[in-house]
Amino acid sequence: MKNFSYPLTKIGIVGGGQLGKMMAQEAKKMGFYVTVLDPTSESPAGQVADREIVGDFYNEKKLKELIESSDVTTYDLENVDTKVFKEFKNRGYKIFPSPETLETIQDKYVQKKTLAEKGIPVPDFKKVESEEDLKSFGFPVVQKARKGGYDGRGVFVLKSEEYISNAIDGETFIEKFVNLEKELAVLVARNIKGEVKIYPVVEMVFDERVNICDTVVSPARIDEKIDETAKKIAIETVEILNGVGIFAIEMFLTKDGEILVNEVAPRPHNSGHHTIEACLTSQFEQHIRAIASLPLGSTEQIIPAVMINILGEPGYKGKPVIEGLDEILSIPGVSFHLYCKKETKPFRKMGHITVVDKNLKSAIEKANKAKKAIKIKGEEKI
Ligand code: ADP
Repeated sequence: MKNFSYPLTKIGIVGGGQLGKMMAQEAKKMGFYVTVLDPTSESPAGQVADREIVGDFYNEKKLKELIESSDVTTYDLENVDTKVFKEFKNRGYKIFPSPETLETIQDKYVQKKTLAEKGIPVPDFKKVESEEDLKSFGFPVVQKARKGGYDGRGVFVLKSEEYISNAIDGETFIEKFVNLEKELAVLVARNIKGEVKIYPVVEMVFDERVNICDTVVSPARIDEKIDETAKKIAIETVEILNGVGIFAIEMFLTKDGEILVNEVAPRPHNSGHHTIEACLTSQFEQHIRAIASLPLGSTEQIIPAVMINILGEPGYKGKPVIEGLDEILSIPGVSFHLYCKKETKPFRKMGHITVVDKNLKSAIEKANKAKKAIKIKGEEKI
């Protein structure tokens, strides 16, 4: 039997956004000491952490301060400096997911190539080295920035040859345009010993105005065979990447019933927020368990759930003003999460709500009602 003393582990988190905040909340619940590095003070995660370090994610001095004062370091965003991470890892510091895993994922082209070479089904893709390459799959075609894209930024659909003049500059690749039946996601947790736990497959629905996932339905309304295939692919993907922590595998279900991996997030993900209320172990607690070398928790979903992202209302900025809170909280089964970002902006992720109900259909109905009622505006009109 192993004994633990308090605090159990000192956790360092690079990135103080909402994912870092929810990680920190779970870590604090279990008695860990949490330090957060973020460029702004009182970031969402900084507000709940024991200690904040204010500094840029590429600031070597600040990264050093974080890593050296933590037993294990993790991150809530992909765009961090793997070079510095590698140096510290080589000196014996624990960083999970590993800098090597992160490096493969950071470059979406390398990520796809790595998975495709190991037999994971992905949409056909090709590196763009000349304008001619953009025409290789005909039109429409999806062009993606290799690095730095998120929430639909760095993704451009070229509907016809005329769109080439607006194509993304820099290092990109193209992907065959997939006829989507649904977008799915699977969360997989894996710890240092290779123990794996998988969550039920979820459906992601996107706000087409900005290409941000705004609704997640769990469990996904798919048949058993597709469910099994998606789970098998998700586990293989995390094993190929030698992942430690929680991983979200975003997938396309095509009109032909095929599952293709779109991309992998090496961290807690929007598609798993409902696990806080709906599963025995939340994705955030699971991540902390995985990186702290503790046994993983049960991923059983105890009640169907729908998660709605609350995006900053277009036309407003500045200090957030929340509208409709009374109305949504009077709906049974609704939980409200505010990320406490100091300023709102159009379509910025400001919070989310989770609706649980024994009946998935009524959870969806309640979620649609709540979605209409809740708005985050700002003190300034733009
Ligand atoms: P991001 O990391 O910015 O979310 P994604 O690669 O996930 O970028 O793409 C964003 C969205 O664009 C996807 O969720 C999907 O709706 C659409 N999309 C991406 N790739 C394709 C594709 N090959 N075919 C059709 N739609 C796509």
